[in-house]
Amino acid sequence: MRQKTKLIHGGIPTDPYTGAVNVPIYQVSTYKQEGVGGHKGFEYSRTGNPTRHALEELIKDLEGGERGFAFGSGMAAITAVMMLFNSGDHIVFTDDVYGGTFRVVTKVLNRFGIEATFVDSSNLENVHNAIKDNTKAIYIETPTNPLLKITDIEAAANLAKEKGLLTIVDNTFSTPYWQQPIQHGADIVLHSATKYIGGHSDVVAGLVVTSTESLGEELHFVQNSTGAVLGPQDSYLLIRGIKTLGIRMEEHEVNTNKIVEFLVKHPKVKKVYYPGLESHPNHGIAKKQGSGFGGMVSFDVGSEQNADNILNSTKYFTLAESLGAVESLISVPARMTHASIPEERRNELGITEGLVRISVGLEDADDLIEDLQNALGE
Ligand SMILES: *Cc1c(COP(=O)(O)O)cnc(C)c1O
Repeated sequence: MRQKTKLIHGGIPTDPYTGAVNVPIYQVSTYKQEGVGGHKGFEYSRTGNPTRHALEELIKDLEGGERGFAFGSGMAAITAVMMLFNSGDHIVFTDDVYGGTFRVVTKVLNRFGIEATFVDSSNLENVHNAIKDNTKAIYIETPTNPLLKITDIEAAANLAKEKGLLTIVDNTFSTPYWQQPIQHGADIVLHSATKYIGGHSDVVAGLVVTSTESLGEELHFVQNSTGAVLGPQDSYLLIRGIKTLGIRMEEHEVNTNKIVEFLVKHPKVKKVYYPGLESHPNHGIAKKQGSGFGGMVSFDVGSEQNADNILNSTKYFTLAESLGAVESLISVPARMTHASIPEERRNELGITEGLVRISVGLEDADDLIEDLQNALGE
């Protein structure tokens, strides 16, 4: 089954109990037992719920793994994955991971003895050098947010295997439609499903897929023990969103290519960050490991003032955090999504005051280009 078909026919496409063509919202917390322990696979909805189960089976199929899990947010998913580790374990992270990931690792998980080192994983040498005796995993985000840096998943997974470590990939920006990290050797793939997977700015959710049944068992134990599960209504909305993920991603890409072409030529734009550009330092790797480059673009306009002028004058690019939905969004990472990263560190990474990030939506590309043209001036 090809990916676009799998979006619609993967997982549990129809309700096994009634034949309804969509698995309904099982708004239920507990299930009648025919004698003690005699149940139909569901006992209590923290442990398992049929609507959530249908979503978990679907994301498992889309990523080509063994077990899928749905959480109440991307951060809940990431935190649950971190609960697979023990006090004293060390993990090597991509340096420009999502701001919330950096925050939970450095301000919460550190209190439980999880140690972390952040390196530019687009150069694997850095990852190699950061591995210590107590290192247990390599955690990568590719492409990264907001600089769209690319890490070679297969090379990272090979290094991890050689050293006996797990490879964890945050696949939020690419989605399983474009990139399936387990096929390149990753052990765990996770998502903020709040973004492209949901796609309509109406759900906060997280998804995880494990490459093996045994990792899945460990994660299910954590999910059931700590309890940050996704509710049935939101699970239903994600299944609905996933049905159109393919056509949405294709169209995001078409619009993005046109906008990137416009930005690259604009005299006020100092630099454009997009993995689909041949001039992107890891364009070749992005092309090797994914079938598309996504709809996220960052560009530097030189100063906070210039960035503000743009934010204040766009009509169709809405000033908001988040990304990956049908409507185009615009933000300044330094003062929004990445504000929780200390300024000194932001500057080290290149997340300057003049850096503008856009999430290209599904409006008419000509309207979006006109909007940016007006905002940039000339
Ligand atoms: C948004 C995001 C997260 C966090 O997900 P939430 O659903 O907001 O909790 C994690 N990783 C990436 C790459 C994100 O964009």
